Amino acid sequence: KKRNPGQTEFIQAVREVAQDIFEFIEDKEEYHQAQILRRIAEPDRVVSFRVCWEDDNHNIRVQRGWRVQCNNAIGPYKGGIRFHPTVTESVLKFLAFEQTFKNSLTGLPMGGAKGGSNFNPKEKSDAEVMRFCQSFMTELYRHIGPDTDVPAGDIGVGGREIGYMFGQYKRIVNRWEGVLTGKGLEYGGSKMRPEATGYGAVYFLQNMLRHRDMDIEGHTAVISGSGNVATHAAEKIVQLGGKVLTLSDSDGFVHDPDGIDQDKIDWVRHLKNVKRGRISEYAEHFTGATYHGDGARPWNVPCDLALPCATQNELDEGNAKDLVDNGVKAVSEGANMPTTLEGVHVFHDARVMYAPGKAANAGGVAVSGLEMSQNAERVSWNHERLGDMLTELMRDIHGKCVEYGSPRDSGGDDYIDYVKGANIAGFKKVADAMLAFGVV
Ligand code: NDP
Repeated sequence: KKRNPGQTEFIQAVREVAQDIFEFIEDKEEYHQAQILRRIAEPDRVVSFRVCWEDDNHNIRVQRGWRVQCNNAIGPYKGGIRFHPTVTESVLKFLAFEQTFKNSLTGLPMGGAKGGSNFNPKEKSDAEVMRFCQSFMTELYRHIGPDTDVPAGDIGVGGREIGYMFGQYKRIVNRWEGVLTGKGLEYGGSKMRPEATGYGAVYFLQNMLRHRDMDIEGHTAVISGSGNVATHAAEKIVQLGGKVLTLSDSDGFVHDPDGIDQDKIDWVRHLKNVKRGRISEYAEHFTGATYHGDGARPWNVPCDLALPCATQNELDEGNAKDLVDNGVKAVSEGANMPTTLEGVHVFHDARVMYAPGKAANAGGVAVSGLEMSQNAERVSWNHERLGDMLTELMRDIHGKCVEYGSPRDSGGDDYIDYVKGANIAGFKKVADAMLAFGVV
């Protein structure tokens, strides 16, 4: 706390990981001696910069941009860029820290980073977003590169923003290189990337359920968010025979007891990506659905499965208790750190299967890693091949979590602590690489 005053999100993320790592390294002198955990918790660097742009009314706007490069022990820095008014240095440090473990878990050679700005792309014209993205990249370009740091999208940064930023990078350096992932298919993007995070979170859920001889078919799911991750998670749940009851945005949620099927999901995508509308409009369009506003979250809707796919700290202790009281069987996080520490304890105490974002949503960055490979090779793999790779990657990540998250001495309790499993498996690879480098 003294080292990072006021950085609550970052401290929360480090604390959660540290608890598990301390236990793991208790009898491993080499990690203590090298101060590995302390070193991972201090980002390699935090770049903060001014982003100046002109709005459509010719007002000069001044925003702040950041790139937090946490750790590149096992590969080039990699992590998304977020444009949202809630972005702070603390939020980006927490995300970069989490990303380091997540990227390690994928088994691919990628370090951890995160970047962004407090810029709010909502209600801005395309031209304003373009000018902002170009200004942002005019500073960022000097800190990134295909072998140095490869950013991607995140909240508020989708295909449109990636296009503007990639165009500006290419113009400045005069090279076509895979410096960003999540690119359009016409210019080096990977098939399966848009689907990867949401699908991956559902594959992880499926692996968890199968480990307990259950499956998704016939079960109800409550999903938060209505962006990229949420809509793809919903799509995969529907494909696997589940029923999706809710979607949300930062204003509230919709509950559709008839189930949100593929046609309705397509409608939501159009609403969000093309019309840039609000989820409340869903209830005006589809009879039987109800809208709950004032920032309400969907966690008191009874369900078997819960997938938080919007943002950090959107599921607190009270929400977790509601879910448990209503008989939830499993929780798989599409978003990053959506459940508060107290909420996680509720799930653990109730022995609810719980997959943290750093494991469950790693499919997105994994396919981004595959986008880097395709760009480097100047090839483009097909949908089927990438789909198979994603399925296998999620199975492997689940396997690692089971390996390190199973109780050492069960005493009859075989509950798998997926948080611990993900933390330890992710930590070990990074830590061993750092040990090999000596004191740097
Ligand atoms: P999008 O911008 O596509 O969608 C975000 C969704 O979350 C929107 O519905 C948005 O509503 C909602 N939301 C944002 N902020 C809040 C808030 N403060 N309270 C309630 N709802 C909110 O982002 P993604 O779907 O890409 O990302 C969602 C989450 O998944 C994030 O945590 C992200 O870090 C994580 N993630 C994403 C990956 C990816 O591949 N895209 C990879 C791994 C993790 P509104 O429209 O009102 O803003």
